[in-house]
Amino acid sequence: MRRAKIVATLGPALDERDKLRAAVEAGIDVVRLNFSHGDHDTHAKRLETVHECASRLGRGVGSIADLQGPKIRLGTLPDGGIDVETGSEVYLLPGREHLEDYDSGGHVALPVAYDYLAHDLQPGSLVLIDDGSLRLVVSRKDDEGVWARVVAGGIAKSKKGVNLPGVAVSAPSLTEKDVADLKFAVELGVDWIALSFVRHADDVVDARNRIAGLGGEAPLISKMERPESIENMLDVVAVSDALMVARGDLGVEIGPERVPAIQKAIIAEANAEGKPVITATEMLESMINSPRATRAEASDVANAVFDGTDALMLSGETAAGKYPVEAVRTMARIIEVAEASPHLVDPQPPSHSERSIGRIVAQAACQVAADVKATAIVVYSISGASIQLVSKYRPAMPLVGLTPREATVQRTALMWGTEAMMVPMKGQSTDLISAAERILVDGHWAQHGDRVVLVSGTPGGQGGTNRIMVHRVGDPVGS
Ligand code: PGA
Ligand code: MN
Repeated sequence: MRRAKIVATLGPALDERDKLRAAVEAGIDVVRLNFSHGDHDTHAKRLETVHECASRLGRGVGSIADLQGPKIRLGTLPDGGIDVETGSEVYLLPGREHLEDYDSGGHVALPVAYDYLAHDLQPGSLVLIDDGSLRLVVSRKDDEGVWARVVAGGIAKSKKGVNLPGVAVSAPSLTEKDVADLKFAVELGVDWIALSFVRHADDVVDARNRIAGLGGEAPLISKMERPESIENMLDVVAVSDALMVARGDLGVEIGPERVPAIQKAIIAEANAEGKPVITATEMLESMINSPRATRAEASDVANAVFDGTDALMLSGETAAGKYPVEAVRTMARIIEVAEASPHLVDPQPPSHSERSIGRIVAQAACQVAADVKATAIVVYSISGASIQLVSKYRPAMPLVGLTPREATVQRTALMWGTEAMMVPMKGQSTDLISAAERILVDGHWAQHGDRVVLVSGTPGGQGGTNRIMVHRVGDPVGS
C-alpha cells in the first residue's frame, strides 16, 4: 500500500493511449496539464484520454492545470540556437518574440518576451538563461534594450526560461495568457489550478476571485518558486488550498544549496496548516534518458517522503522523457519502500483550537481507529474537506473516502493515503454504513468481523465533520 501520491506531467511522451494507460496503472494519481506548453485543444484531448483510462481502470485520477505565470522567456532563435561566448557582451531586446537580425554590430542580440525587462534591470543585475546554464551581468541600458556581459556562456535556444534573481519583477501575477488559460481550465473542469511564481497572499486571493467570477470553484495550489513567496510563506500558505515546492525555478532564483531546507520548511508549514503539499522537479531527472534512476534520485524521492510530503511530481520524466512509464513505476517503488522503513516519522499534525471541531474529530478518529485496531478508516465527505483533514493526521490504516461527487473523488487523489470512491449519499446513515461495508469488502480493505471507524457529519447538515463511529463489519446496523 503506497500512501504518498504521484503527480505526472503530461506531454508528448504519454500521448500514446497505451502508454498513458500503462503509466496510470503504474501509479499516476494526478496529472498535470502544463500550460507553459501546448494549446488548449491538446490539453483538452489529453484530459479526456486520462478520464477514459481512469474509468476503464475504475480509479479516480485527479488533474491540475498549471498556469505559466509571469515566466520570462527568450523569443524564438534560429534553429540550433546561438552560441553565446563567455566574456562577450550581448544585447537583450525587451518585449520581442523574434528578431530580424540576431547580430547587433558584431554582438549577439537576443529577443526576450518580457516588456518590463529594461525597467526591472539595473547595471549589476544578474540574468540567468535556461535554468542558470547561461549567466549574464547587466552592464548598461540604452533606449532600446539592455547590454549584458556573459559570465558563463553556452548555446542559447528558443523559448528558454530567463530568471532575474533578486529583481522585483513588475509583471502582473496573472498575465493575459494566464487569464485566458484560467478561463479555459475552469471550463475544462480541472480539479486543481496551480499558480506559478506566486509572490504574496494577494496573488492567490486575486486568482480565487477571478475563478469565482467565472463560476468555478477549483482550489488553488501556490507554487513556491519566488524568493518573495518564501519570505511571505506563512501568509501564502494561509490563503492557499495546497502548496508546491517548485524546486526548479526556486533553485535558480535562490541557489540550489538553499532548496533542501526550504523544502522541509514549506512541507512542515503546509502540514501544520492541514494543506496538501507537492514536492516537484528533477526527482528522477536522469530517467528522461535512462531506464534507471540514480542513487541520489532514489534518496531524493525517499527524503521527500520522510519530510512529510503528500505528493511527488514528475515533470520532464513523463512529459518528454524516453521512459515515462518506468519513471512512474520507479517512483512508486521508492515511495513504497521508504514508507515501509523505520525512518518514516509522521509529520507534526495540524494544531487546533477549541473551535476547530473538524480537526479535533479527525485527530480523535485516527486515535480511535488505532486503539480499536480498525482495519480501515472511512470518511464520508461531499467536498472532500474532511477527507483532507483525516489524511493530515496520517492514519496508519487505509483511509477510504466516500463521496457522492465525482469531482471529490478526483480532487482527493492528490491527498496522502486516500482512496476515494463514489457512493450515493441519501443522508440515511444506515444506507451509508451498508454502502461502506460493501465497498470495504469489495476493495479488500476489510472483511467480515473486522472493526472499522466511520467519520461523518450530521446527515444533511453543514456542521462539518462531527461524528465518529466504531463498527464491526457484518453487525446489524439498525436505524
Ligand atoms: P514548472 O514549475 O515546471 O512549471 O517550471 C515547477 C518548478 O519550477 O519546479
Ligand atoms: Mn517553475
